[in-house]
Amino acid sequence: MKIEKIKEEKKKNKLSILLKDTDEVFANAIRRLILEEVPTLAVEDLEIKENNSALYDEFIGLRLGLIPLKTDLKSYNLKEKCKCERAGCAQCELKITLKSGSKKGYVYAEDAQSADPKCVFAHPKMPIVKLLSKQKIDMTMTAILGTGRNHVKWSPGWAYFKKEPVLTVGKVSNPELVAEKCSDGVFTLKNKKLEVNEEKVYDSQLLDYYSELDKGITVELTDNIIFTLESWGQLSCKEILSKSADIFIDKTEEMEKLI
Ligand SMILES: [Zn+2]
Repeated sequence: MKIEKIKEEKKKNKLSILLKDTDEVFANAIRRLILEEVPTLAVEDLEIKENNSALYDEFIGLRLGLIPLKTDLKSYNLKEKCKCERAGCAQCELKITLKSGSKKGYVYAEDAQSADPKCVFAHPKMPIVKLLSKQKIDMTMTAILGTGRNHVKWSPGWAYFKKEPVLTVGKVSNPELVAEKCSDGVFTLKNKKLEVNEEKVYDSQLLDYYSELDKGITVELTDNIIFTLESWGQLSCKEILSKSADIFIDKTEEMEKLI
């Protein structure tokens, strides 16, 4: 199998790669490993000392659970695999405190204090609650490693794939019409001729529509697969992919022993 990088958007935590000489079964196995098996840190327990804000305790608890937490896979173990035998230690639990003090207005993810400076909330300006004067929150969270199989809050991102499209433009009868209907930048009209913007073709959802619009435009699918991964922020796209590959190897070895 060959892998080529198509596009990496670091600001959006998004990565697209082209897989050659493989099939959808393999791509789907990797997709499911990413969604369900690559572990991340997420808030699991919450001790509330004070909360007289407009949001119920449970409501804030749900919000905190779903805020992506930067994860250092080298330093943390899954609780069930930790040496402490589920008792809870620095290798399987992370304490985070959130205290509003006399602060009024929005309390953001960045206001939380993590015991591990490497593992903080990934999006600092994510609002948690809005406080009026005299309203306060004071809580301690415990985050643990987990997998998306148990709860989606531990999923590291979203992954999807499709076959590689090849767009061919032949004799187009009405290029003006196609250019007018084109809303995703795939075509531009130059001297009454359609020009294809190749970098937009892979992202386009309208290729079939263009081919119906004019017989001069054809779309064919190759056997290559475009695999796209968006990280929620806990891990980088590269970390997610290499961890999913490790898990894949572990699982095949496990299966080999069973056969
Ligand atoms: Zn432990």
